[in-house]
Amino acid sequence: TAAHVKAIEGAGELNAFITQTPEKALTMADASDERRRKGDVGKMEGLPIAIKDLFCTQGVLTTAGSHILDGFKPTYESSVTANLWDAGAVMLGKLNLDEFAMGSANITSYYGNVRNPWTPEGAEKPLVPGGSSGGSAAAVAARIALAATGTDTGGSIRQPASLCGIVGLKPTYGRCSRWGTVAFASSLDQAGPMTRSVRDAAIMLGAMAGHDPKDSTSVNVPVPDYEAALTGDIRGLRIGVPAEYRMEGMPEEIERLWQEGITWLKAAGAEIVDISLPHTKYALPTYYIVAPAEASSNLARYDGVRYGLRVEGESLDEMYENTRGEGFGAEVKRRVLIGTYVLSAGYYDAYYNKARQVRTLILRDFQDAYQKVDAILTPTAPSAAFAVGENMDDPVQMYLNDIFTVPVNLAGLPGISVPAGLSAGGLPLGLQIIGRAFDEETLLRVAGVLE
Ligand code: GLN
Repeated sequence: TAAHVKAIEGAGELNAFITQTPEKALTMADASDERRRKGDVGKMEGLPIAIKDLFCTQGVLTTAGSHILDGFKPTYESSVTANLWDAGAVMLGKLNLDEFAMGSANITSYYGNVRNPWTPEGAEKPLVPGGSSGGSAAAVAARIALAATGTDTGGSIRQPASLCGIVGLKPTYGRCSRWGTVAFASSLDQAGPMTRSVRDAAIMLGAMAGHDPKDSTSVNVPVPDYEAALTGDIRGLRIGVPAEYRMEGMPEEIERLWQEGITWLKAAGAEIVDISLPHTKYALPTYYIVAPAEASSNLARYDGVRYGLRVEGESLDEMYENTRGEGFGAEVKRRVLIGTYVLSAGYYDAYYNKARQVRTLILRDFQDAYQKVDAILTPTAPSAAFAVGENMDDPVQMYLNDIFTVPVNLAGLPGISVPAGLSAGGLPLGLQIIGRAFDEETLLRVAGVLE
Protein backbone atom coordinates (compact mmCIF):
# COMPACT_ATOMS: atom_id res chain seq x y z
CA THR A 1 0.00 0.00 0.00
CA ALA A 2 2.77 2.44 0.91
CA ALA A 3 4.50 1.76 -2.41
CA HIS A 4 1.29 2.42 -4.32
CA VAL A 5 0.59 5.63 -2.39
CA LYS A 6 4.05 6.82 -3.38
CA ALA A 7 3.63 5.75 -7.00
CA ILE A 8 0.37 7.73 -7.21
CA GLU A 9 2.16 10.86 -6.00
CA GLY A 10 4.64 10.50 -8.84
CA ALA A 11 2.01 9.94 -11.52
CA GLY A 12 0.11 13.21 -11.28
CA GLU A 13 0.37 13.95 -15.00
CA LEU A 14 -1.99 11.02 -15.73
CA ASN A 15 -4.80 12.80 -13.85
CA ALA A 16 -6.18 9.34 -13.06
CA PHE A 17 -7.35 10.24 -9.55
CA ILE A 18 -9.96 12.79 -8.56
CA THR A 19 -9.45 12.10 -4.85
CA GLN A 20 -6.53 10.35 -3.19
CA THR A 21 -7.07 8.82 0.24
CA PRO A 22 -3.54 8.00 1.45
CA GLU A 23 -4.31 8.15 5.20
CA LYS A 24 -7.35 5.97 4.80
CA ALA A 25 -5.28 3.54 2.72
CA LEU A 26 -2.56 3.23 5.35
CA THR A 27 -5.12 2.80 8.16
CA MET A 28 -6.92 0.13 6.17
CA ALA A 29 -3.60 -1.58 5.45
CA ASP A 30 -2.75 -1.61 9.18
CA ALA A 31 -6.15 -3.12 9.98
CA SER A 32 -5.51 -5.71 7.30
CA ASP A 33 -2.12 -6.59 8.82
CA GLU A 34 -3.86 -7.02 12.14
CA ARG A 35 -6.42 -9.41 10.64
CA ARG A 36 -3.67 -11.33 8.91
CA ARG A 37 -1.86 -11.80 12.22
CA LYS A 38 -5.03 -13.35 13.57
CA GLY A 39 -5.28 -15.63 10.56
CA ASP A 40 -8.45 -13.87 9.35
CA VAL A 41 -7.61 -13.50 5.63
CA GLY A 42 -10.19 -12.28 3.10
CA LYS A 43 -10.24 -12.93 -0.65
CA MET A 44 -8.50 -9.61 -1.32
CA GLU A 45 -6.70 -9.16 1.97
CA GLY A 46 -4.42 -6.12 1.94
CA LEU A 47 -4.67 -5.51 -1.81
CA PRO A 48 -4.53 -1.78 -2.66
CA ILE A 49 -7.17 -0.90 -5.25
CA ALA A 50 -8.87 2.25 -6.49
CA ILE A 51 -12.51 3.04 -7.11
CA LYS A 52 -14.18 4.70 -10.09
CA ASP A 53 -15.68 7.89 -8.70
CA LEU A 54 -19.18 6.71 -9.51
CA PHE A 55 -19.37 4.44 -6.45
CA CYS A 56 -20.53 6.15 -3.27
CA THR A 57 -17.92 5.87 -0.55
CA GLN A 58 -18.91 6.84 2.96
CA GLY A 59 -17.41 10.16 4.03
CA VAL A 60 -15.24 10.37 0.91
CA LEU A 61 -15.97 12.89 -1.84
CA THR A 62 -17.97 11.26 -4.66
CA THR A 63 -18.20 13.36 -7.82
CA ALA A 64 -19.31 11.19 -10.79
CA GLY A 65 -16.90 13.46 -12.69
CA SER A 66 -19.47 16.25 -12.48
CA HIS A 67 -19.49 19.79 -11.14
CA ILE A 68 -23.06 19.25 -9.97
CA LEU A 69 -21.93 16.90 -7.17
CA ASP A 70 -19.50 19.47 -5.71
CA GLY A 71 -18.68 18.58 -2.14
CA PHE A 72 -20.95 15.51 -2.03
CA LYS A 73 -19.76 13.11 0.68
CA PRO A 74 -22.15 10.17 0.88
CA THR A 75 -23.31 9.01 4.29
CA TYR A 76 -23.37 5.44 2.98
CA GLU A 77 -21.15 2.98 1.15
CA SER A 78 -22.09 1.32 -2.16
CA SER A 79 -22.72 -2.40 -1.87
CA VAL A 80 -19.94 -3.28 -4.31
CA THR A 81 -17.29 -1.27 -2.45
CA ALA A 82 -18.59 -2.57 0.90
CA ASN A 83 -18.11 -6.12 -0.44
CA LEU A 84 -14.54 -5.26 -1.48
CA TRP A 85 -13.64 -3.84 1.96
CA ASP A 86 -15.24 -6.90 3.58
CA ALA A 87 -12.91 -9.03 1.46
CA GLY A 88 -9.94 -7.11 2.90
CA ALA A 89 -9.16 -4.75 0.00
CA VAL A 90 -7.59 -1.35 0.73
CA MET A 91 -8.80 1.90 -0.88
CA LEU A 92 -6.22 4.18 -2.53
CA GLY A 93 -8.74 6.75 -3.73
CA LYS A 94 -11.37 7.69 -6.30
CA LEU A 95 -10.71 7.59 -10.03
CA ASN A 96 -11.47 10.02 -12.81
CA LEU A 97 -14.22 9.22 -15.33
CA ASP A 98 -16.40 10.80 -17.97
CA GLU A 99 -19.13 12.94 -16.42
CA PHE A 100 -21.84 10.57 -15.16
CA ALA A 101 -20.03 7.84 -17.14
CA MET A 102 -21.12 9.37 -20.44
CA GLY A 103 -18.29 9.11 -22.93
CA SER A 104 -15.66 6.92 -24.57
CA ALA A 105 -12.50 8.96 -24.09
CA ASN A 106 -12.57 10.40 -20.57
CA ILE A 107 -12.76 13.89 -21.99
CA THR A 108 -16.14 14.92 -20.56
CA SER A 109 -14.98 14.92 -16.91
CA TYR A 110 -15.28 18.19 -15.00
CA TYR A 111 -11.91 17.20 -13.50
CA GLY A 112 -10.10 17.17 -16.82
CA ASN A 113 -9.03 14.45 -19.22
CA VAL A 114 -6.96 11.41 -18.27
CA ARG A 115 -3.72 10.62 -20.04
CA ASN A 116 -3.29 7.12 -21.40
CA PRO A 117 0.02 5.82 -19.93
CA TRP A 118 0.80 4.38 -23.39
CA THR A 119 1.17 7.91 -24.78
CA PRO A 120 4.55 7.95 -26.57
CA GLU A 121 7.15 10.20 -25.00
CA GLY A 122 7.27 13.60 -26.65
CA ALA A 123 3.82 13.17 -28.24
CA GLU A 124 2.23 16.49 -29.10
CA LYS A 125 -1.14 15.49 -27.68
CA PRO A 126 -1.77 12.79 -25.07
CA LEU A 127 -3.63 9.64 -26.08
CA VAL A 128 -7.03 9.06 -24.48
CA PRO A 129 -7.42 6.09 -22.13
CA GLY A 130 -10.93 5.35 -23.44
CA GLY A 131 -13.98 5.84 -21.29
CA SER A 132 -15.91 6.21 -19.30
CA SER A 133 -13.74 4.26 -16.81
CA GLY A 134 -10.63 6.03 -18.13
CA GLY A 135 -9.06 6.78 -14.75
CA SER A 136 -9.52 3.13 -13.74
CA ALA A 137 -7.87 1.80 -16.90
CA ALA A 138 -4.98 4.29 -16.74
CA ALA A 139 -4.30 3.63 -13.04
CA VAL A 140 -4.13 -0.14 -13.52
CA ALA A 141 -2.08 0.13 -16.73
CA ALA A 142 0.38 2.53 -15.03
CA ARG A 143 0.69 0.16 -12.05
CA ILE A 144 -0.39 2.82 -9.55
CA ALA A 145 -3.31 0.65 -8.39
CA LEU A 146 -3.31 -3.12 -8.25
CA ALA A 147 -6.82 -3.18 -9.68
CA ALA A 148 -9.79 -0.86 -10.01
CA THR A 149 -13.55 -0.96 -10.15
CA GLY A 150 -15.30 0.17 -13.30
CA THR A 151 -18.87 0.45 -14.49
CA ASP A 152 -20.13 -0.47 -17.92
CA THR A 153 -23.36 0.83 -19.45
CA GLY A 154 -22.37 0.51 -23.10
CA GLY A 155 -18.70 -0.48 -22.98
CA SER A 156 -17.14 1.68 -20.28
CA ILE A 157 -15.16 -1.16 -18.70
CA ARG A 158 -14.20 -3.07 -21.84
CA GLN A 159 -13.31 -0.25 -24.24
CA PRO A 160 -10.87 1.56 -21.87
CA ALA A 161 -9.41 -1.84 -20.90
CA SER A 162 -8.72 -2.45 -24.58
CA LEU A 163 -7.17 1.00 -25.11
CA CYS A 164 -4.92 0.67 -22.04
CA GLY A 165 -3.87 -2.97 -22.44
CA ILE A 166 -5.56 -4.40 -19.33
CA VAL A 167 -8.36 -6.87 -18.56
CA GLY A 168 -11.89 -5.50 -18.07
CA LEU A 169 -14.93 -7.59 -17.22
CA LYS A 170 -18.56 -6.50 -17.44
CA PRO A 171 -20.56 -9.11 -15.52
CA THR A 172 -24.08 -10.24 -16.34
CA TYR A 173 -26.70 -7.59 -15.50
CA GLY A 174 -27.75 -8.38 -11.94
CA ARG A 175 -24.50 -10.11 -10.92
CA CYS A 176 -23.19 -7.10 -8.95
CA SER A 177 -25.42 -4.82 -6.93
CA ARG A 178 -26.08 -1.35 -8.32
CA TRP A 179 -26.99 -0.02 -4.87
CA GLY A 180 -25.00 3.09 -4.01
CA THR A 181 -23.54 3.46 -7.48
CA VAL A 182 -24.52 6.71 -9.19
CA ALA A 183 -27.07 5.70 -11.83
CA PHE A 184 -26.64 6.46 -15.52
CA ALA A 185 -28.99 4.04 -17.34
CA SER A 186 -30.37 1.68 -14.73
CA SER A 187 -31.34 -1.19 -17.06
CA LEU A 188 -27.82 -1.28 -18.53
CA ASP A 189 -25.40 -0.26 -15.74
CA GLN A 190 -23.20 -2.97 -14.29
CA ALA A 191 -20.07 -2.79 -12.12
CA GLY A 192 -17.03 -4.96 -12.77
CA PRO A 193 -13.30 -5.44 -12.21
CA MET A 194 -10.47 -3.86 -14.22
CA THR A 195 -7.22 -5.72 -13.62
CA ARG A 196 -3.79 -6.66 -14.90
CA SER A 197 -4.64 -10.31 -15.44
CA VAL A 198 -7.59 -12.61 -15.99
CA ARG A 199 -6.83 -14.31 -12.67
CA ASP A 200 -7.07 -10.96 -10.86
CA ALA A 201 -10.40 -10.33 -12.58
CA ALA A 202 -11.69 -13.71 -11.40
CA ILE A 203 -10.64 -13.03 -7.81
CA MET A 204 -12.01 -9.49 -7.77
CA LEU A 205 -15.34 -10.42 -9.37
CA GLY A 206 -15.76 -13.06 -6.68
CA ALA A 207 -15.41 -10.33 -4.06
CA MET A 208 -17.66 -7.77 -5.79
CA ALA A 209 -20.54 -10.02 -6.84
CA GLY A 210 -23.48 -11.33 -4.90
CA HIS A 211 -27.16 -10.88 -4.26
CA ASP A 212 -28.19 -7.66 -2.54
CA PRO A 213 -31.73 -7.16 -1.26
CA LYS A 214 -31.17 -3.38 -1.62
CA ASP A 215 -31.08 -3.70 -5.44
CA SER A 216 -34.24 -5.33 -6.78
CA THR A 217 -32.48 -6.21 -10.06
CA SER A 218 -29.64 -7.98 -8.28
CA VAL A 219 -30.12 -11.69 -8.94
CA ASN A 220 -30.12 -14.27 -6.19
CA VAL A 221 -27.82 -16.93 -7.63
CA PRO A 222 -24.71 -18.36 -5.98
CA VAL A 223 -21.35 -16.74 -6.75
CA PRO A 224 -19.08 -19.52 -8.07
CA ASP A 225 -15.38 -19.85 -7.36
CA TYR A 226 -14.24 -17.98 -10.47
CA GLU A 227 -10.57 -18.74 -9.95
CA ALA A 228 -11.35 -22.44 -10.14
CA ALA A 229 -12.81 -21.84 -13.60
CA LEU A 230 -9.35 -20.95 -14.94
CA THR A 231 -8.45 -24.49 -15.95
CA GLY A 232 -6.71 -23.44 -19.15
CA ASP A 233 -8.69 -26.17 -20.91
CA ILE A 234 -11.08 -25.02 -23.65
CA ARG A 235 -11.05 -28.23 -25.68
CA GLY A 236 -14.42 -28.89 -27.24
CA LEU A 237 -15.82 -25.44 -26.40
CA ARG A 238 -17.75 -23.92 -29.28
CA ILE A 239 -16.79 -20.30 -29.99
CA GLY A 240 -19.02 -18.21 -32.24
CA VAL A 241 -17.75 -15.62 -34.71
CA PRO A 242 -20.57 -13.25 -35.68
CA ALA A 243 -20.61 -12.21 -39.35
CA GLU A 244 -22.28 -8.87 -38.58
CA TYR A 245 -19.32 -7.67 -36.51
CA ARG A 246 -17.18 -7.65 -39.64
CA MET A 247 -18.02 -3.99 -40.15
CA GLU A 248 -17.37 -2.12 -43.33
CA GLY A 249 -14.39 0.17 -42.96
CA MET A 250 -13.00 -1.73 -39.96
CA PRO A 251 -9.23 -1.10 -39.77
CA GLU A 252 -7.23 -3.98 -41.14
CA GLU A 253 -5.25 -4.40 -37.91
CA ILE A 254 -8.45 -5.03 -35.96
CA GLU A 255 -9.56 -7.62 -38.49
CA ARG A 256 -6.12 -9.27 -38.31
CA LEU A 257 -6.15 -9.40 -34.51
CA TRP A 258 -9.59 -11.00 -34.56
CA GLN A 259 -8.31 -13.60 -37.03
CA GLU A 260 -5.33 -14.31 -34.78
CA GLY A 261 -7.63 -14.78 -31.82
CA ILE A 262 -9.65 -17.30 -33.81
CA THR A 263 -6.44 -19.16 -34.70
CA TRP A 264 -5.26 -19.24 -31.06
CA LEU A 265 -8.56 -20.58 -29.77
CA LYS A 266 -8.64 -23.22 -32.49
CA ALA A 267 -5.09 -24.25 -31.63
CA ALA A 268 -6.18 -24.62 -27.99
CA GLY A 269 -8.86 -27.10 -29.05
CA ALA A 270 -11.97 -24.92 -29.38
CA GLU A 271 -14.38 -25.37 -32.24
CA ILE A 272 -14.98 -22.16 -34.22
CA VAL A 273 -18.55 -21.68 -35.44
CA ASP A 274 -19.78 -18.98 -37.82
CA ILE A 275 -22.88 -17.36 -36.36
CA SER A 276 -25.25 -14.54 -37.23
CA LEU A 277 -26.55 -11.78 -34.96
CA PRO A 278 -28.81 -10.14 -37.54
CA HIS A 279 -30.01 -7.15 -35.49
CA THR A 280 -26.50 -5.94 -34.63
CA LYS A 281 -26.80 -2.89 -36.87
CA TYR A 282 -29.65 -1.58 -34.73
CA ALA A 283 -27.75 -1.85 -31.45
CA LEU A 284 -26.11 1.58 -31.46
CA PRO A 285 -29.26 3.56 -32.38
CA THR A 286 -31.23 1.51 -29.85
CA TYR A 287 -28.67 2.19 -27.13
CA TYR A 288 -28.62 5.91 -27.88
CA ILE A 289 -32.36 6.03 -27.25
CA VAL A 290 -32.60 3.75 -24.20
CA ALA A 291 -29.52 5.09 -22.37
CA PRO A 292 -30.32 8.82 -22.69
CA ALA A 293 -33.99 8.14 -21.82
CA GLU A 294 -33.03 6.46 -18.57
CA ALA A 295 -30.30 9.05 -17.92
CA SER A 296 -32.70 11.96 -18.30
CA SER A 297 -34.94 10.38 -15.68
CA ASN A 298 -32.07 9.44 -13.31
CA LEU A 299 -30.46 12.88 -13.54
CA ALA A 300 -33.68 14.69 -12.64
CA ARG A 301 -32.66 14.34 -8.99
CA TYR A 302 -29.80 16.86 -9.34
CA ASP A 303 -31.84 19.95 -8.68
CA GLY A 304 -29.71 21.98 -6.28
CA VAL A 305 -31.76 20.83 -3.30
CA ARG A 306 -30.58 17.35 -2.46
CA TYR A 307 -26.94 17.08 -3.49
CA GLY A 308 -23.86 19.13 -4.20
CA LEU A 309 -23.96 22.33 -6.16
CA ARG A 310 -26.63 25.02 -5.77
CA VAL A 311 -26.65 28.16 -7.89
CA GLU A 312 -29.21 30.56 -6.43
CA GLY A 313 -31.86 32.36 -8.50
CA GLU A 314 -34.83 34.68 -8.08
CA SER A 315 -37.29 31.80 -7.89
CA LEU A 316 -37.20 28.07 -7.26
CA ASP A 317 -37.42 27.37 -11.00
CA GLU A 318 -34.58 29.73 -11.69
CA MET A 319 -32.49 28.05 -8.99
CA TYR A 320 -33.11 24.68 -10.70
CA GLU A 321 -32.17 26.12 -14.08
CA ASN A 322 -29.05 27.87 -12.83
CA THR A 323 -27.89 24.81 -10.93
CA ARG A 324 -28.40 22.41 -13.83
CA GLY A 325 -27.14 24.94 -16.36
CA GLU A 326 -23.86 25.40 -14.55
CA GLY A 327 -23.58 21.98 -12.98
CA PHE A 328 -23.86 19.77 -16.06
CA GLY A 329 -21.39 19.66 -18.92
CA ALA A 330 -22.25 19.67 -22.63
CA GLU A 331 -22.40 15.88 -23.13
CA VAL A 332 -24.69 15.38 -20.15
CA LYS A 333 -26.98 18.14 -21.39
CA ARG A 334 -27.06 16.54 -24.83
CA ARG A 335 -28.12 13.21 -23.31
CA VAL A 336 -30.80 14.81 -21.13
CA LEU A 337 -32.21 16.60 -24.17
CA ILE A 338 -32.25 13.42 -26.27
CA GLY A 339 -33.73 11.47 -23.37
CA THR A 340 -36.56 13.87 -22.62
CA TYR A 341 -37.31 14.11 -26.34
CA VAL A 342 -37.64 10.35 -26.89
CA LEU A 343 -39.77 10.03 -23.75
CA SER A 344 -42.09 12.93 -24.53
CA ALA A 345 -45.75 12.36 -25.38
CA GLY A 346 -46.08 11.85 -29.10
CA TYR A 347 -42.55 10.53 -29.54
CA TYR A 348 -42.57 7.85 -26.86
CA ASP A 349 -44.02 5.14 -29.11
CA ALA A 350 -41.96 6.09 -32.13
CA TYR A 351 -38.63 6.12 -30.30
CA TYR A 352 -38.53 4.74 -26.78
CA ASN A 353 -41.05 1.94 -27.19
CA LYS A 354 -39.61 0.99 -30.57
CA ALA A 355 -36.13 0.87 -29.07
CA ARG A 356 -37.37 -1.42 -26.29
CA GLN A 357 -38.81 -3.78 -28.88
CA VAL A 358 -35.60 -3.82 -30.92
CA ARG A 359 -33.69 -4.48 -27.70
CA THR A 360 -35.67 -7.71 -27.31
CA LEU A 361 -34.76 -8.73 -30.87
CA ILE A 362 -31.09 -8.14 -30.08
CA LEU A 363 -31.38 -10.34 -26.99
CA ARG A 364 -33.10 -13.06 -29.05
CA ASP A 365 -30.24 -13.00 -31.58
CA PHE A 366 -27.87 -13.90 -28.75
CA GLN A 367 -30.22 -16.53 -27.33
CA ASP A 368 -30.42 -18.21 -30.75
CA ALA A 369 -26.64 -18.09 -31.09
CA TYR A 370 -26.16 -19.72 -27.68
CA GLN A 371 -28.04 -22.78 -28.95
CA LYS A 372 -24.98 -23.39 -31.10
CA VAL A 373 -22.06 -21.90 -29.21
CA ASP A 374 -20.74 -21.51 -25.66
CA ALA A 375 -19.15 -18.08 -26.10
CA ILE A 376 -18.60 -15.45 -28.80
CA LEU A 377 -15.34 -13.80 -29.90
CA THR A 378 -15.20 -10.26 -31.33
CA PRO A 379 -12.88 -7.27 -31.25
CA THR A 380 -13.50 -4.98 -28.25
CA ALA A 381 -13.21 -1.62 -29.98
CA PRO A 382 -12.87 -0.45 -33.58
CA SER A 383 -9.51 1.26 -32.98
CA ALA A 384 -6.52 1.64 -30.68
CA ALA A 385 -6.21 4.71 -28.43
CA PHE A 386 -6.51 8.01 -30.29
CA ALA A 387 -5.14 11.44 -29.41
CA VAL A 388 -7.08 14.01 -27.41
CA GLY A 389 -8.88 16.16 -29.96
CA GLU A 390 -9.56 13.38 -32.48
CA ASN A 391 -13.23 12.39 -33.01
CA MET A 392 -14.20 15.14 -30.65
CA ASP A 393 -16.34 17.63 -32.51
CA ASP A 394 -18.61 14.88 -33.81
CA PRO A 395 -20.55 13.07 -31.06
CA VAL A 396 -21.78 10.40 -33.49
CA GLN A 397 -18.19 9.51 -34.42
CA MET A 398 -17.45 9.14 -30.71
CA TYR A 399 -20.50 6.90 -30.23
CA LEU A 400 -19.06 4.47 -32.83
CA ASN A 401 -16.43 3.44 -30.27
CA ASP A 402 -19.12 1.36 -28.61
CA ILE A 403 -20.19 -0.55 -31.67
CA PHE A 404 -18.98 -3.97 -30.44
CA THR A 405 -19.73 -3.49 -26.75
CA VAL A 406 -23.21 -1.95 -26.68
CA PRO A 407 -25.15 -5.04 -27.88
CA VAL A 408 -23.84 -6.94 -24.84
CA ASN A 409 -25.35 -4.41 -22.40
CA LEU A 410 -28.65 -4.33 -24.29
CA ALA A 411 -28.83 -8.12 -23.89
CA GLY A 412 -27.61 -8.03 -20.25
CA LEU A 413 -24.85 -10.54 -21.00
CA PRO A 414 -21.33 -10.79 -19.54
CA GLY A 415 -18.38 -9.60 -21.65
CA ILE A 416 -14.65 -9.38 -21.07
CA SER A 417 -11.86 -7.56 -22.89
CA VAL A 418 -8.43 -9.19 -22.89
CA PRO A 419 -5.25 -7.55 -24.19
CA ALA A 420 -4.44 -9.56 -27.31
CA GLY A 421 -1.95 -7.65 -29.42
CA LEU A 422 -0.53 -4.34 -30.55
CA SER A 423 -1.54 -1.96 -33.29
CA ALA A 424 0.87 -0.90 -36.04
CA GLY A 425 1.67 2.09 -33.83
CA GLY A 426 2.57 -0.20 -30.91
CA LEU A 427 -0.61 0.44 -28.91
CA PRO A 428 -2.62 -2.24 -27.11
CA LEU A 429 -5.67 -3.86 -28.70
CA GLY A 430 -8.20 -6.07 -26.95
CA LEU A 431 -10.42 -8.94 -27.95
CA GLN A 432 -13.87 -9.37 -26.43
CA ILE A 433 -15.46 -12.60 -25.31
CA ILE A 434 -19.21 -12.56 -24.73
CA GLY A 435 -20.82 -15.27 -22.62
CA ARG A 436 -24.19 -16.67 -21.67
CA ALA A 437 -26.05 -14.92 -18.87
CA PHE A 438 -24.43 -15.78 -15.50
CA ASP A 439 -21.74 -17.84 -17.19
CA GLU A 440 -18.77 -15.63 -16.32
CA GLU A 441 -16.82 -18.86 -15.70
CA THR A 442 -16.64 -19.84 -19.38
CA LEU A 443 -15.81 -16.23 -20.22
CA LEU A 444 -12.90 -16.21 -17.80
CA ARG A 445 -11.69 -19.63 -18.92
CA VAL A 446 -11.55 -18.58 -22.59
CA ALA A 447 -10.01 -15.22 -21.65
CA GLY A 448 -7.30 -17.02 -19.68
CA VAL A 449 -6.31 -18.90 -22.82
CA LEU A 450 -6.21 -15.72 -24.95
CA GLU A 451 -4.23 -13.73 -22.41
N1 GLN B 1 -19.49 5.32 -24.28
C1 GLN B 1 -20.84 4.96 -23.96
C2 GLN B 1 -21.64 6.18 -23.61
O1 GLN B 1 -21.11 7.23 -23.70
C3 GLN B 1 -20.86 3.96 -22.83
C4 GLN B 1 -20.61 4.57 -21.52
C5 GLN B 1 -20.66 3.59 -20.41
O2 GLN B 1 -20.61 2.38 -20.62
N2 GLN B 1 -20.83 4.12 -19.22
O3 GLN B 1 -22.77 6.11 -23.27
